[in-house]
Amino acid sequence: MKTMGILGGMAFESTLTYYQVVNEYINRELGDHHSCRCLIYSVDFQDIVDVHRDGDWDRASNILSEAGLKLKAAGADFLVLATNTMHICAPAIIERTGLPFIHIAEATADRLLGDGVKTVGLLGTTFTMEMDFYKKVLIDRGLEVLIPEAEERKEIFRIINDELAFGIIKEPSRAYYQQEIQKLKDRGATGVILGCTEIGLLIQQEHSVLPVYDTALIHAEESAKYAITE
Ligand code: GLU
Repeated sequence: MKTMGILGGMAFESTLTYYQVVNEYINRELGDHHSCRCLIYSVDFQDIVDVHRDGDWDRASNILSEAGLKLKAAGADFLVLATNTMHICAPAIIERTGLPFIHIAEATADRLLGDGVKTVGLLGTTFTMEMDFYKKVLIDRGLEVLIPEAEERKEIFRIINDELAFGIIKEPSRAYYQQEIQKLKDRGATGVILGCTEIGLLIQQEHSVLPVYDTALIHAEESAKYAITE
């Protein structure tokens, strides 16, 4: 089994999900008392929130590449960046660490295409919904990507930052997300990407009129699969 290096803490609530899913996946596949051989480097999330405010992605690339190099020195064979947004820094991390890297948008796109989805709604931080680094991966693979309107994107991000990052679940926020998913369905989406690793705390399949693609679960499963694939 390869040793997984998880860049986590963005936010810590979803890193808990990754830790649970990778261990459960490997135990299910290998049986007995097998579990995931992994290392976690959990950042101080305030450093990352400061980057969001300043838009200083080079600083984030430095923080995350340094962390990736520490995981490599500690024995990680590959890296898993446990957040969608900070995949803005994926090219820098891959280049500076030289380690194999499981990309969250690629893993999600593969799952969507395997299910025959062609038009998909995307929910996440404003960076993930609006910038190219994420949508381009999906579009390059032939998917059509729909995002909510500008005002709604701000509220979706506010709920992530102020509530979900702290594990706070509020019914009005769930209703807000449900309404946005309905609008994406009305515009032609046949699936919705929970493109922030904390959204799965708020929205599960039972809450959604569209099939949900929870990036934290998909990414963790694909990473666990990679760890035990020869
Ligand atoms: N976990 C979030 C993601 O997957 C990022 C949270 C944040 O940056 O506020 O994009």
